[in-house]
Amino acid sequence: MDLKQDVHHMNDAFYRTLLESTKAIPWQIDWQTMTFSYIGPQIKELLGWETDSWLSANDWAERMHPDDRDWVVDFCISQSKDGVDHEADYRALTNNGDYVWIRDVVHVIRDEHGETVSLVGFMFDINARKKSEEELLKLKQELEELSYQDSLTGVANRRLYDAFMEREWDLAIRNHSAISMIMVDIDFFKQYNDQYGHTAGDIALKAIATTLKSALRGSDIVARIGGEEFVIVMPATSQKNAIDVAERIRQKIEHTAIEHNSENTFLTASFGVGTIFPQVEDQPEIFIEHVDQLLYVAKKNGRNQVKAIF
Ligand code: GH3
Ligand code: MG
Ligand code: MG
Repeated sequence: MDLKQDVHHMNDAFYRTLLESTKAIPWQIDWQTMTFSYIGPQIKELLGWETDSWLSANDWAERMHPDDRDWVVDFCISQSKDGVDHEADYRALTNNGDYVWIRDVVHVIRDEHGETVSLVGFMFDINARKKSEEELLKLKQELEELSYQDSLTGVANRRLYDAFMEREWDLAIRNHSAISMIMVDIDFFKQYNDQYGHTAGDIALKAIATTLKSALRGSDIVARIGGEEFVIVMPATSQKNAIDVAERIRQKIEHTAIEHNSENTFLTASFGVGTIFPQVEDQPEIFIEHVDQLLYVAKKNGRNQVKAIF
């Protein structure tokens, strides 16, 4: 018996055991024929496809998510041609139609002339990591949304209102269009809190926010800008339409019939309504102050009313 041969076989067995007992999945592709000369049996456990169903590089490309396929195949082929080791993350198709995130780490084997002979690689299952990355991203987006939202009522907060107002103001100047604004302040709300408690006050605030939201069109926003003060910004809206909206909200709040003071009197709100075709020289602060003044007049004139002109 040839000892050398025997040692060689022992080595083979050793390496095979080593390769097939790792979690990473080893494989080898012959560059000339673009066929698999080896793929670890672990592949069946991960993706479900039989080991002997991995014949050509095509089988690999076809079992890849269509959104990943083009760039991964192009990238791997060009890197391999250039003899550069590389790695790629992609979604591999399982035999029951799901996708699993894989990181493929590829070593390019070249001959003495530098020509690519074969590719040797390991596939790593990175699904859990990718999933948690995706969850983190989703969480970040939710957090982003939340930071523009009033936590009690779910309407926009002042941050979003400021950003929205700035953008719409500039757009209105450019488009020579109107912006209307409705300021809302709940009447005798301190009394309401004192009489029914802070928790009931919070519930009433939420109910009123819901009423305000129901009056909006797609391009409007409602924001909570103070404890019991809201503002509605309505781009490209005439004064008449804005007054109609405010009046409808006023009635709806009254008809929600949240008891206040006695069985026959209900929680109400007062409204200031302003409309402007902003010009370059106009300042939003001055317009907002003007609408605030109208709200103040509505309060002074007896509350539960809409005021649009002095
Ligand atoms: P007016 O009709 O003149 O607007 O009187 P008002 O009592 O509504 O006005 P004021 O500004 O004096 O009081 C606002 C009250 O709103 C003070 C506070 O008790 C209540 N408030 C502010 N923020 C909240 C909140 O987040 N939850 C609750 N429950 N109450 C709040
Ligand atoms: Mg107030
Ligand atoms: Mg008030």
